[in-house]
Amino acid sequence: CGIVGAVSAKDSTPFLLEGLATLEYRGYDSAGLALLASDGFSGLQRARSKGRVAELAAKVKQEGINGRVGIAHTRWATHGVPAERNAHPHISAGLAVVHNGIIENYEALREQLQGLGYAFTSDTDTETIAHLIQACFKGQIGEPAENLFSAVQCAVGHLKGAFALAVISEEEPECVVVAREGSPLMLGVAEDGHYAASDASALLSVTKRMMYLENGDIARLTRDSITLVDRLGQPAQRQVITSSLSP
Ligand code: GLU
Repeated sequence: CGIVGAVSAKDSTPFLLEGLATLEYRGYDSAGLALLASDGFSGLQRARSKGRVAELAAKVKQEGINGRVGIAHTRWATHGVPAERNAHPHISAGLAVVHNGIIENYEALREQLQGLGYAFTSDTDTETIAHLIQACFKGQIGEPAENLFSAVQCAVGHLKGAFALAVISEEEPECVVVAREGSPLMLGVAEDGHYAASDASALLSVTKRMMYLENGDIARLTRDSITLVDRLGQPAQRQVITSSLSP
């Protein structure tokens, strides 16, 4: 239902949790986040919970999860009951995905990915996206991808339906890759990093400078850069606007 993502110079955890809290008004049944540990050794860390963002926040604190690069989600279940195992992020070997929307061809994709040896741990349409990006990354589907960005590009080409996605991977610990088709997604531009969210209100705690993505856009965010291509894979730029909303 709601997405936030961050590549920051400092710990992103407070921004991610605050962002989820501002998205609570949209309604949700569970919440979760994944961060790449800043120490460079612990890899991907994830916390999920059914129920309130406050419960997730307590879990994150208890488990001492933090990091500069991360993604987070509030879920409104469409495929799979509300339960911790169905909460996002979904993981495929060191790669984590949050998703808003519905993947219409997920059953066919799930079968194809199971055939390639991928084991599913949830009943969601979203988990197929995580394994699909992984399969594209490894060249099991399409040409071996050069990087996470091209793996997401490959995966998106196989998806039917509506989505806003944010992806992180241990293989490229300095970036978040996002994509949208039909579901809202925007970027936040700040001094200390780059941010993404499904709703402007979630970005206001870090910046008023925002960029609306267009359908078909895929973007790679690092601390200092945004690389964006349109549906045809052509480099594109989207106007940075200054939001008139107050935090
Ligand atoms: N279809 C996905 C699910 O059921 C995402 C739902 C959402 O947008 O929160 O997990």
